[in-house]
Amino acid sequence: MDGGRLSRIPSPTCPMKTDALAPGQTIGILGGGQLGRMLAMSAARLGLRTHVFEPGAMPPAGEVAGTITTADYCDREALAAFAGSVDVVTYEFENVPADALDLIEARVPIRPNRRALAVSQDRLREKRFLNGIGLATAPFHPVDPASPNAAGILKQAVEVVGLPAILKTRRLGYDGKGQVRIEDTHRTAATLASMAGAEAILEGFVAFAREVSVIAARGADGRIACFEPGENVHVDGILCTTRVPARIDGGTRERAFGIAAAILDALDYCGVIGVELFDTADGLVVNEFAPRVHNSGHWTEAGAVVDQFEQHVRAVAGWPLAAPIRHSDVEMTNLIGEDVADAPAIAREDGVRIHLYGKTETRAGRKMGHATRVLGPATRS
Ligand code: AMP
Repeated sequence: MDGGRLSRIPSPTCPMKTDALAPGQTIGILGGGQLGRMLAMSAARLGLRTHVFEPGAMPPAGEVAGTITTADYCDREALAAFAGSVDVVTYEFENVPADALDLIEARVPIRPNRRALAVSQDRLREKRFLNGIGLATAPFHPVDPASPNAAGILKQAVEVVGLPAILKTRRLGYDGKGQVRIEDTHRTAATLASMAGAEAILEGFVAFAREVSVIAARGADGRIACFEPGENVHVDGILCTTRVPARIDGGTRERAFGIAAAILDALDYCGVIGVELFDTADGLVVNEFAPRVHNSGHWTEAGAVVDQFEQHVRAVAGWPLAAPIRHSDVEMTNLIGEDVADAPAIAREDGVRIHLYGKTETRAGRKMGHATRVLGPATRS
């Protein structure tokens, strides 16, 4: 068994007591994708009900949540009815419009809080926040492609961050979408056009040995629990595998825990967070964080006593966090697009846990499920 890390001392910034939800009370979940589905399943195991709010028809979470509202995030009546029917609201999707959150927050608490969401929604604000609490990020510079002087701004940004670099939209990017790599300054106009007018940020390319992530949680009492860091492999910007433990030394592991804890405390956070890190020759560099359960934490279903989904439900419901005890070394593989057809063959293997999301349409690049292979009893790298 391997313990991850659980802090015993509540943070001084955190309220000491939050009323815990009782079995039978309801968690509202904004977003009905696979993360919402897995949260709803965990909540049900703890005797808590869920009500999912999702604009799209037939969402993955709809099959397992107690109640589903199908409405747009602009539908104030539907939002008010949703907020009135739940005891706390969380989200599996960070791009919920601010107006919808204002309306909900006037009626019921949102966990993690609005600041965590606002910071993570904007790559520029996120990087400034991270640097502001003393954490290293890639060098960056804002770029407004709609500015009449956009080409000049991009040139200046390249001078600041160097080449190669990556131009990313500030908002609404995920799985490598809204990103373009720049090797030289020859195709400036095309590079700027690829942002489709959206505000952007130029990031210097980080030469990393590996990508790791920490799935951590902060409870309503301020306690923090970090799962063992996982080592991630991305292909075309999409997570392909997470292997646990990551091949990092003990000092780097402690530093990764410290980074996650610093972010959680600075945001007075309640819930699970996914912190993506680059392991470099100069130490850990923060790529980004997601204020929710995270794809690179799916391994916890098969490798830990309590998984990230239950941990998040515990936190937002005001229950005590679980100790992040890991019993196995594991490797999680995403089943993307047509990979889902391999699921029956994978199911024949010993020691593998499969999770499919019930998506009716298979599309290239779409996350359809994941498989986690147990490699053996928990070891440290
Ligand atoms: P993101 O959407 O920002 O998480 O980027 C997706 C993936 O692109 C990351 O997991 C990295 O593999 C790669 N990437 C993003 N930003 C950088 C960077 N500044 N330097 C090197 N690789 C990056």
